[in-house]
Amino acid sequence: QLVLGVETSCDETGIGLYDPRQGRLLAHRVFSQIDMHAAYGGVVPELASRDHIRRLVPLLRETLAAADARLQDVAVIGYTTGPGLAGALLVGASFAEALALSLGVPAIPVHHLEGHLLSPLLASDPPEFPFVALLVSGGHTQLMQVTGVGEYALLGESVDDAAGEAFDKTAKLLGLPYPGGPALARLAAQGQAGRFKLPRPMLHSGDLQFSFSGLKTAVLTATQQEGYGAEQAADLAAEFQQAVVDVLCAKALAALKQSGLKSLVVAGGVGANQCLRAQLGQALARRGGRVYFPELEFCSDNGAMIALATAMRWQRGLASSTPGGAFAIRPRWPLDQAAG
Ligand code: ATP
Ligand code: MG
Ligand code: FE
Repeated sequence: QLVLGVETSCDETGIGLYDPRQGRLLAHRVFSQIDMHAAYGGVVPELASRDHIRRLVPLLRETLAAADARLQDVAVIGYTTGPGLAGALLVGASFAEALALSLGVPAIPVHHLEGHLLSPLLASDPPEFPFVALLVSGGHTQLMQVTGVGEYALLGESVDDAAGEAFDKTAKLLGLPYPGGPALARLAAQGQAGRFKLPRPMLHSGDLQFSFSGLKTAVLTATQQEGYGAEQAADLAAEFQQAVVDVLCAKALAALKQSGLKSLVVAGGVGANQCLRAQLGQALARRGGRVYFPELEFCSDNGAMIALATAMRWQRGLASSTPGGAFAIRPRWPLDQAAG
């Protein structure tokens, strides 16, 4: 009676195996294509699709072996159906639907951001509904009011670049290797914020919207100033990180205030950022609230979060496709349209 999760929306192939009766992840495996795409400075969609094809079966075998489980124990299969790269999504969707058909079990299409959003529930001290979610990933920056599984109301989002995207693009400007987010965070740790002055975009906009594309331009301008040298890159990185974190914190706190909720849940790749974790932790402690983060290994894309989202949908009788029926991917798909 196990739940299998399949993730192939971008450049990570992920498989997770969750046991809903024990309420526990049994095993998961991720293969990241980062090394393959690094040579191109970003994800090449066609290479991503082809690599997912190569990785899925071995990862499934490894995950089953690590959990000491058999395919026959799988009772339902969930897969990321969007948003993401169309070709990459199609690989996971056809794999999961074909496997479900052969096993005679249902297949459940899962929203990738729902996976991210529920990933903090895999931690040992999970949050309870309702909460405000701050989704900060490579493609999205959103504040959501979460009442339960499948009950997501969008409170605000970025009008341009996502936070992760801003980290990646700024890292590129500073000459750091792809993927830039973690590299920029490491560089920032050696510098000091405040020596450069960067804007805090939309900090006082009075709503819960974000904008990060101007920050990247401000960094570019700073590097073009007379007297700028590579030795200042760490200070500039620290100031950039601080600017993003300041805005994310302020808007997350405003969202809590507006919704009258006490719990904040952070999810997505940028949730791994230590500066963000520390600042949110302090801010929430001061206000008598609490902030929950996914474990580091579940911040970026993985199959475990898809297995968990599948289990939670399945237990609540939310949408599943018919084995052998038609299926579709949804490269563009707003999360608040993913209700049961
Ligand atoms: P989406 O989930 O929106 O479709 P994605 O799956 O590409 O996008 P994730 O895998 O959730 O995004 O996160 C990847 C992003 O997180 C990248 O932009 C990466 O630079 C960023 N990131 C990872 N670690 C850190 C860090 N320590 N600090 C800042 N950013 C980070
Ligand atoms: Mg990725
Ligand atoms: Fe993601």
